[in-house]
Amino acid sequence: MTEKRDYYEILGISRDASDSDIKKAFRSLARKYHPDKNPDDEESEARFKEVQEAYAILSNKEQRRKYDTFGHNRPDGNPFGSGFQGVNINFEDLFSEGSGFDSIFSQFFGGNSRRRERRGNDLLVRHRINFEDMFNGSEEESVIESLVECDGCLGSGAKSMDGVTSCNTCDGRGRITQTQRIGPFLQESVSDCPNCAGTGRVVTDPCSSCRGDGRVKRERTIRFSVPPGMMAGTRLRMQGQGEPTTGNSGLPGHLYIEIAIDDHDWFERSDSDLLMAFPVGFHDLVKGRRFEIPHLDGKPLVIEIPAGSKPGDTIDIRGRGITKTRGRGRGDVTVLLKLHMPQNLTQEVLSSLDDLSDSIDISNHEIEDSIRREARNRRMGVD
Ligand SMILES: [Zn+2]
Ligand SMILES: [Zn+2]
Repeated sequence: MTEKRDYYEILGISRDASDSDIKKAFRSLARKYHPDKNPDDEESEARFKEVQEAYAILSNKEQRRKYDTFGHNRPDGNPFGSGFQGVNINFEDLFSEGSGFDSIFSQFFGGNSRRRERRGNDLLVRHRINFEDMFNGSEEESVIESLVECDGCLGSGAKSMDGVTSCNTCDGRGRITQTQRIGPFLQESVSDCPNCAGTGRVVTDPCSSCRGDGRVKRERTIRFSVPPGMMAGTRLRMQGQGEPTTGNSGLPGHLYIEIAIDDHDWFERSDSDLLMAFPVGFHDLVKGRRFEIPHLDGKPLVIEIPAGSKPGDTIDIRGRGITKTRGRGRGDVTVLLKLHMPQNLTQEVLSSLDDLSDSIDISNHEIEDSIRREARNRRMGVD
């Protein structure tokens, strides 16, 4: 093998060339040596690859700095390895201005971005909690069945260290590139290697517990915290708690827990507020009354009904609602007053009511005025 040429020399630029000098030099050389322009010319093809590699290193600040310090013998090696294959560049991209050109560069800079990250499947688990636990927050656990790393082979799928080899079809990359000529353009497509299902490895001596997959199905208990005030339908994400990849060839997926919340006997929820209908007697509305009822936060909820209240009036109790998930503090409790209608009144009570009717019922001559006043209030939006 001949001595590797200096990257600056390849691009014909000085060692203090600016980024735009580098880009300019690469462009003109890439045009000159592009295989589409020089079909079946091995020399041009080699030069084209050389130019691509030089550009990939020098256009990347970090790589350029390393190259300037260590030359071709950098301690962590060439990021493109010996098998540097060039990048997906087609004629169209190279000769058009603007975004097309830049997008090949960004693909280019990544260097190994073509070796797409493999990740195991995400899992979704639904978990139901009661209203009180939503209100106060709680520690939950749930038993799920999913694929987990096989204990027998620590996820490798092989009985022993030698029981797994790099895939020949894709040289262990897991992906294969196919080049297709469409008119004047070369189009490259990259796909999972069919021989190793994209893992880059082949198990020759499979583990007996998982039959070479590296994963087994098992029940496991997951534990997680539900913060106070969580909305129904929220998905908690447990990073890396999803399924592992086969043969440990990538990172595990994530586990999502979707929270469902039981209804409460009294309350409806509206964001961070709690709404409650509260039936009280006619006498309570007229004279006012103070009630104390137990509440979710452990302290009694005090409801002060002012004298002269009407059914449909609401009373807001500030700061006793649900913990806000955005912002600080808690929402309110809104109490909607309803009129409690007593059932099965005794004859005695009914006759007492008759005695009161003159003072509490509406009189005949007031009815029409009263209807008119209601209509006017309704139109003005007053109750
Ligand atoms: Zn195994
Ligand atoms: Zn393969």
